[in-house]
Amino acid sequence: TKPLLKVENLKKHFPVKKGLFGKTVGYVKAVDDVSFYVNEGETLGIVGESGCGKSTTGRVLMRLLEPTEGEVEFDGKSLTSLSSEEMRKTRRDIQMVFQDPYASLNPRHTIGKILEEPLIVHGVKDQKERKRKVREFLEIVGLSEFHAKRYPHQFSGGQRQRIGIARALMTNPKLIIADEPVSALDVSIQAQVLNLMQDLQKEFNLTYIFIAHDLGVVRHISDRVGVMYLGKMVEIADSEQLYDKPLHPYTQALLSAVPVPDPDYQKEQIPIEGDIPNPANPPTGCTFHTRCPFKMDICTKVVPKLVDHSKGHSVACHLYTEQVDDDIKQLEGSI
Ligand code: SF4
Ligand code: MG
Repeated sequence: TKPLLKVENLKKHFPVKKGLFGKTVGYVKAVDDVSFYVNEGETLGIVGESGCGKSTTGRVLMRLLEPTEGEVEFDGKSLTSLSSEEMRKTRRDIQMVFQDPYASLNPRHTIGKILEEPLIVHGVKDQKERKRKVREFLEIVGLSEFHAKRYPHQFSGGQRQRIGIARALMTNPKLIIADEPVSALDVSIQAQVLNLMQDLQKEFNLTYIFIAHDLGVVRHISDRVGVMYLGKMVEIADSEQLYDKPLHPYTQALLSAVPVPDPDYQKEQIPIEGDIPNPANPPTGCTFHTRCPFKMDICTKVVPKLVDHSKGHSVACHLYTEQVDDDIKQLEGSI
């Protein structure tokens, strides 16, 4: 395995403007110095509460939003330095599946037309070939040929997400960024769509970034999971390690909220106090300190770095840094 995608020190800061002349008075650091990689053929889950920057990360990777800073390497190419024309071509290799397929399917177009469009955009000139592919992919996602003549409103939520997935597959992508693809669906339908996505992954050797707000949803589909909080990756690990031995207090709290199937097993509940802070005015030091039951003095002053704790398991929390003492000394020296 080798990384298909490498993200280094990615930042997306949105200016906060005020007044008649739109003076910039600050920045929302929606994505703030995030680094990770995704190996070919694997699924990286990215989890966090709304506003943590996970969707913005997905959009920046697609360059639907331009990054403020950082490097994105995809399949050996630097995406961040591609011209918009080169990026347009590369987009056939990276596709997105959205949370609400209904909002992303043109209500006036038939499913056939919707599925044909990415082929037209990417230069498949032969109409017969396009129609053949539309039929093929409708069947691959569990629909059938005759659905091509129908309109989005004639389908259920689960079927619409199958259409959204088929559309993403039309250009034979390598990477699919799925932004909460099952959050809007009933629980029974969620499992079907997740199973479909797993089958497709095997069949087409797809690499997934699977964005969700709930650790339960990504558990079975992810090889590795990253947890984001206020624009930062606070922990990233192999799935088993993350679920068995979460290190970051935020991950522990998120996990304690996931229901367990075994009623005899009493989980320790770790409450997360309070709401997510205003991202335009985040807390100093560790941005989780306002809600963390383990807060120490240093936490309000020094930003914890994401560091390797054990092989492939990284965490950004002062509970695990040996550098804490050094940081305190430095801090005292500077006062
Ligand atoms: Fe809690 Fe401090 Fe760790 Fe932040 S750095 S998660 S406040 S213990
Ligand atoms: Mg979102």
